[in-house]
Amino acid sequence: MSFTLHGLGVSGGIAIGHVHLVTSASLEVDHYQIPDEFVAKEVKRFDKAVKQVLAELDALEHEVKTTHRGEASGEMAAFVTVHRMILDDPSLSDTPRDIIRRESCNAEWALKLQLDELLAQFADVQDEYLRERKTDVRQVAERLVAALTGQGGAVPEKLRERAEDTILVARDLSPADVILFKDHQVAAFITDLGGSTSHTAILSRSLGIPAIVALHTARDLVREDELIVVDGTQGVVIVDPDETVLAEYRLKQNQWKLERQKLSRIKTAAAETLDSVHVELHANIELPSDLDAVKQSGATGVGLFRSEFLFMNRKDLPSEDEQFEAYRAVAEGLKGKPVVIRTLDIGADKALEGPDQVSAHSALGLRAIRYCLAEPPLFNTQLRAILRASKYGDVRILIPMLASANEIKQTLAAIARAKEQLKDEGRKFNDQIQVGGMIEIPAAAIALPMFLRQLDFLSIGTNDLIQYTLAIDRTDDNVAHLYDPLHPAVLHLVSSVIRQANAAKVPVAVCGEMAGDVNLTRLLLGFGLRDFSMHPANVLTVKQRVLMSSLADIEPAVIKILKADDPDKLRTMVEKLNA
Ligand code: PEP
Ligand code: MG
Repeated sequence: MSFTLHGLGVSGGIAIGHVHLVTSASLEVDHYQIPDEFVAKEVKRFDKAVKQVLAELDALEHEVKTTHRGEASGEMAAFVTVHRMILDDPSLSDTPRDIIRRESCNAEWALKLQLDELLAQFADVQDEYLRERKTDVRQVAERLVAALTGQGGAVPEKLRERAEDTILVARDLSPADVILFKDHQVAAFITDLGGSTSHTAILSRSLGIPAIVALHTARDLVREDELIVVDGTQGVVIVDPDETVLAEYRLKQNQWKLERQKLSRIKTAAAETLDSVHVELHANIELPSDLDAVKQSGATGVGLFRSEFLFMNRKDLPSEDEQFEAYRAVAEGLKGKPVVIRTLDIGADKALEGPDQVSAHSALGLRAIRYCLAEPPLFNTQLRAILRASKYGDVRILIPMLASANEIKQTLAAIARAKEQLKDEGRKFNDQIQVGGMIEIPAAAIALPMFLRQLDFLSIGTNDLIQYTLAIDRTDDNVAHLYDPLHPAVLHLVSSVIRQANAAKVPVAVCGEMAGDVNLTRLLLGFGLRDFSMHPANVLTVKQRVLMSSLADIEPAVIKILKADDPDKLRTMVEKLNA
């Protein structure tokens, strides 16, 4: 039966393919009695599932080792090893067999009873590391349930067979999950949870494939292998489409591809408005391997390297040398074009793993620069690595989440200390390296002069600026509809930061998702923005809009937009600006 689901389209384009349910299956399993004569068979069914999951983990380990060499290398395989150890433990691989015999129940139910027992024991464990292994135990149990219900198969294994035809359907994906999928060109992603600027959504865009979040019920309503259409531009999923609908979407898919091909013709054109004002279009990246996409996009540099992704999917921290190699690879790869490396922005939805690491600190907690200042050795290691890489290109440092003068002072002192150490060791680096700050907390936007006085450049992180200004958790699908870049308060903050920075002759960029939204290009140009940093997939679309824009036309309209306080009128005025 065909039906339609609506969510938030976070990455445009159309995909037609078969569903693969990502195995974060909930443990809501059926309970039924097994007649005595079939109990031995049920135990065998359980044993078979254990074997299957072992094989999946082997395949996953192989996959991680072969496709992630050089990035997070062997460490990424560590979590697979932990899962294998958990599966090897008799409490998960043996006890459920006893329960099946004792209760004459189905294997899934026996597993659920045993998991409840194990998870209850974790509640009393004092050791934080062991307590965190609770998630691993649950994930292994979920894999077993998936194997029992015939939905198993490690994702990479499945993807290897038919990736380009596969649409991943998940309750939620962590940013770390998405990084693992990056090497498999799946057709699309859809999830029940998440907001449009959650890091999962941002990463989905970095795969350059359609993606929809906040669908609420997709994971429950679609079945493995079912044919679905994903329209990432409209945020619509059509399950089990009939031939007419399929034909319509195949046509749209071809049109989309043709448009992308046409766009590639302006790849090398300078980004200039009709009145010859030059605009820099830079790219946001997560890993050195994104450099290819940057080159394809025609971006003139990297305006945001989210360095925290080097720290994910591993239990330990990357060493100074490992970080240095990653930063150097990007600096050299860009051949003199700028690369803005943002220091570790961990916390909120981006968590580190491991015994001594930060786990999910709230968006208002010890995240980003707050965390780095609280962990001087970790910060020092990263600063040294960035400074060392500055010898190999136009490397700049960007500090996330600054709010107060004291943080700026402490940060600049930490950079000065790292420089002194390198000098003492006789290492070369760019002593004049530029240090910029992200303006993503309303306090920073309001008290801008102290940032202008002390920093070499600014970059407006609109994702967090909107989150904090409107008090809307950017990862929470329940409030995703309230996340509004066109809220007058947001527009006033963004335009005022750009105006003040331009007046003080301090370079200012926007590196949040607003910069890559073509419907906001003219508005931002009208605010005086000349430096946009966005996902590589958006660069050409935004460039096309820049090429078709005249500041002389835009500026008077934008003055009126800033005066409007009726949201509907404001929206209509922005639409007119784009007409
Ligand atoms: C932002 O907050 O706008 C930003 C660019 O940083 P991130 O999305 O990584 O928080
Ligand atoms: Mg941010």
